[in-house]
Amino acid sequence: MEKQLQDTLFPLTSHPTTREVAGLVKTGGVDALTEAQRRADEARYQEITCRSALNRVEGMPFRWTLNPYRGCTHACHYCFARRYHTQFELGAGDEFSSIILVKTNLIAVLRRELDRPAWTRELVAVGTATDPYQPIEGHYRLTRASLEALALASTPVGLVTKGPMVVRDIDMLQELSRRAAATVYISVPSIDEDAWRRLEPGTAHPLQRLRAVRALADAGIRAGVLMAPIVPGITSDRERLAATVRAIADHGARFVGANVLHLEGGTRTHFLEFLSREYPELMDSYGDLYPGLTKYAPDGFRSEVRSIVRELQKEAGLSSREEDRSEEPVQPPSMAAQGGFEWERR
Ligand code: SF4
Repeated sequence: MEKQLQDTLFPLTSHPTTREVAGLVKTGGVDALTEAQRRADEARYQEITCRSALNRVEGMPFRWTLNPYRGCTHACHYCFARRYHTQFELGAGDEFSSIILVKTNLIAVLRRELDRPAWTRELVAVGTATDPYQPIEGHYRLTRASLEALALASTPVGLVTKGPMVVRDIDMLQELSRRAAATVYISVPSIDEDAWRRLEPGTAHPLQRLRAVRALADAGIRAGVLMAPIVPGITSDRERLAATVRAIADHGARFVGANVLHLEGGTRTHFLEFLSREYPELMDSYGDLYPGLTKYAPDGFRSEVRSIVRELQKEAGLSSREEDRSEEPVQPPSMAAQGGFEWERR
């Protein structure tokens, strides 16, 4: 039955599109993804066919995004992209971090798009939906091949990641810097060990991410750190913020940015469930900070956190993203909320 359904939805041997995956899951549940490969990390990887590689976005300080993967085994509990997994009829909880869609034809499509005479070499923001250097990139190398195609097309790139694997592609980022521009935003919300283990269970240790910043900086690549999201009551106290900003400065970052947790949709549901399991003592405070369906913590709380970070950043001799922007040839991606960047209207 599942096979029949699959043959109907996925004719011949080509991979399904995201829409076809959503249809299959809607009808037969995740077990209907019989093509999805289970790898050593126990996640399942469903290869898909994408119709476009560059996604046009509105209302952002850039107009194009590129994401080789959907879903992310880094599994950060606060991840804003969790709620978008429901577009594919997949859950914002475990399924977000264990069923990953892989755009296997991405590079061919990207090259075609970059070859168009109408392509004006605007900034492309990479990794706006999910992490382009999650572990499976070691197998598919789609991010690396994308950077190569973008460099050949002299197209500037802003890339955000929590994956130290980015250092593998230093050569490509140098080439991009020479031909256009490249900025790497490494996400390190906090260096607190306990918070890292609980909030970001599938990610590399924060200091390993900072070592990647050092390697990028030493290689002449413009690299900074985003402390996003700062999670109220877990990583928002002055002591933890200070330790993190100091460590960021010690690793040669060009700039630092910060933002406070934003809760919405499936991300909100998942995060509050996580909080009730791991930090039950914080539930009441979260009820006050994010009452009803409020997405953002109160302005006063957010500006207080931002002003502490600004103060610490100045003490550490670090630029803010805004200050560092003056040297940029292109407008950088804007960090919206958390865990990544809400660059893309998905
Ligand atoms: S915040 Fe980034 S690294 Fe973490 S799960 Fe989301 S996309 Fe992956």
